[in-house]
Amino acid sequence: MNDYQKGIIFVVSAPSGAGKTTLCAELSRRVPNLSRSISFTTRAPRPGEAHGVDYFFVTDDKFTEMVEKNGFLEWAEVHGHRYGTGRDRVMDFVNQGHDVLLNIDCQGAIHLKKKGLDGVFIYILPPSLEALKARLLERRSDPPEEVARRLRKAREEVWSYREYYYLVVNDQVEEALVELEAIVRAERRKMKRMNLGWIEETFIKAKPESAVGEG
Ligand code: 5GP
Repeated sequence: MNDYQKGIIFVVSAPSGAGKTTLCAELSRRVPNLSRSISFTTRAPRPGEAHGVDYFFVTDDKFTEMVEKNGFLEWAEVHGHRYGTGRDRVMDFVNQGHDVLLNIDCQGAIHLKKKGLDGVFIYILPPSLEALKARLLERRSDPPEEVARRLRKAREEVWSYREYYYLVVNDQVEEALVELEAIVRAERRKMKRMNLGWIEETFIKAKPESAVGEG
């Protein structure tokens, strides 16, 4: 449990291939009390991906059922498949004072922002379009037409960077991680997010003499 009132929702978006998934996984490993939200998706698992670890892989019918039951905080169609953030798990975490990291696309992030979510919106970009293309090709899990589609989408969506509060350029992974960690830690120290009752207890109500005597 933190000394701040409620958990913080960190919303991270980036063009596909910018390295966001790796950065988010490593960030939640490095920073205590920061859990990655596991989204639901109708797309098939890629090699090496596991249900309940990378995503909850569900059928179209199951996804529709969740939409109808208002089970998503947000959801969007991305690259021809549906992706959604399960409402219950995220809200339980946040209400218990834990921070959550949402790795979602721009549509989902902008939707949450418009709904008034008091989250921290972070945009990650690769250093150039060439670097993005190279990374998408390196991944080898997507066919060439899918790579081309993702590149086109990146160019269309890049304008949404204006909606975010922070921009991190993922050139060197380690540097990007240091910056992301700094953002998380700084947001946690914001006065508006903290329970400040202890200041009064410690510095105003306590008797200064006893503090000296017991030191
Ligand atoms: P991928 O198929 O490469 O894992 O993800 C494709 C895109 O879907 C990424 O931009 C990723 O951030 C986004 N995405 C993953 N989960 C969610 C989600 O729950 N909601 C939204 N809106 N986008 C998501």
